[in-house]
Amino acid sequence: MSCDYLVIGQGIAGSTLAWTLADAGYCVVIVDVAQQTNASSVAAGLVTPITGKRFTHARSWMAEWEVASRFYSRIEARLGTRFLHVQPSVRWFASEDEKELWQQRMRNGDYAGLDVRYVPGRDDGTIFAPYGGFEMFPSARLDTVTYLAATREYFCERGAYVQHELDLSGLVPSLEGVRVPALDIICQGVVFCQGHLGRSNPWFPHVDFRPAKGEILTLSIGGYEELRTQHFDVWLAPQKSGTFRTGSNYEWDQLDELPTERVRNALLQRLSGSFRVPVEVLNHQAGIRPAVSDSRPVVGFHATHPQLMILNGLGAKGTLWAPLASSLLLGLIADGEHIPAEWSVNRFECRGGS
Ligand SMILES: Cc1cc2nc3c(=O)[nH]c(=O)nc-3n(C[C@H](O)[C@H](O)[C@H](O)COP(=O)(O)OP(=O)(O)OC[C@H]3O[C@@H](n4cnc5c(N)ncnc54)[C@H](O)[C@@H]3O)c2cc1C
Repeated sequence: MSCDYLVIGQGIAGSTLAWTLADAGYCVVIVDVAQQTNASSVAAGLVTPITGKRFTHARSWMAEWEVASRFYSRIEARLGTRFLHVQPSVRWFASEDEKELWQQRMRNGDYAGLDVRYVPGRDDGTIFAPYGGFEMFPSARLDTVTYLAATREYFCERGAYVQHELDLSGLVPSLEGVRVPALDIICQGVVFCQGHLGRSNPWFPHVDFRPAKGEILTLSIGGYEELRTQHFDVWLAPQKSGTFRTGSNYEWDQLDELPTERVRNALLQRLSGSFRVPVEVLNHQAGIRPAVSDSRPVVGFHATHPQLMILNGLGAKGTLWAPLASSLLLGLIADGEHIPAEWSVNRFECRGGS
């Protein structure tokens, strides 16, 4: 078989890149192990414009969001399936100091372009948030399982999806392209979208991965109805099935995909600080975020074999960043456009030396 590009990995990164390349007219084949525990299948898929204890709104956020929302809407229209749910979300203050910090940021105009408004405090037996909070828009939730399944089905139907764990040391790059003997494929280029498994990629050993494990619970909450994601000490995100998901934690030492009793209890404890309704745990999952040392995506060509490419490092922001990262890689492939230094794989090649 021959194709233009072989995409290795079908998480959010590989799926989004495959659509981007295919829509630009390239013949794309995806290969993936197809395990249910990749980060993308576990992820909450949240896109939140104001984050962290300092209520930060990154200057680049709106431009990234515009690319992402346009991309997901286009694929939704193509497939006749909905997976990006755009809703306001609510962030509750944990103290009077937090509220003051937010008010100061509002006065500074730090949230220009967003719709951000104060929400009065609540203590009504459901939510205990006496300092109030704020509603922010746009924010969104990608139903990653639906997005990945619909993408897999589309490429499968066209004979462009292979379920296989590819041994990357068997790739043979040459001036004509790349030979992939294990799949009997010859292509112009190969793009590695491997998530945290990119740590052992022999072609890009310099990328400084710092993967972070996270766990998520799916909850049944009788009688509680809410369409907006709520951010307390943990977040609580509504699902289309009427259930909710909550999470998450960051763990850098024990990098496996096994849920733990310790984190389950900790998440429930943190939730109970602000959310007073009894919950039943229906499911508990763990995944590994493909983060790198400077928390930015990693996009670009191999230093000496430009037929080999990487799109990785999406960390905790795969939903927001995958469309822009894919579009940048397309620009590089099709028109030789420059990848911004902070997203380019070259920053690691330079540090690594060779
Ligand atoms: C608990 C948790 C919560 C999260 N919440 C959010 C959130 O709210 N919002 C958000 O934007 N992001 C969130 N994330 C982060 C998000 O999951 C990641 O940014 C994103 O999923 C990364 O996608 P990826 O495609 O790079 O990696 P992955 O999803 O890991 O996909 C990589 C794929 O490559 C395949 N692969 C690797 N090597 C090979 C090979 N040799 N042969 C064949 N296949 C191969 C793997 O099997 C896998 O399917 C969360 C992550 C976790 C763990």
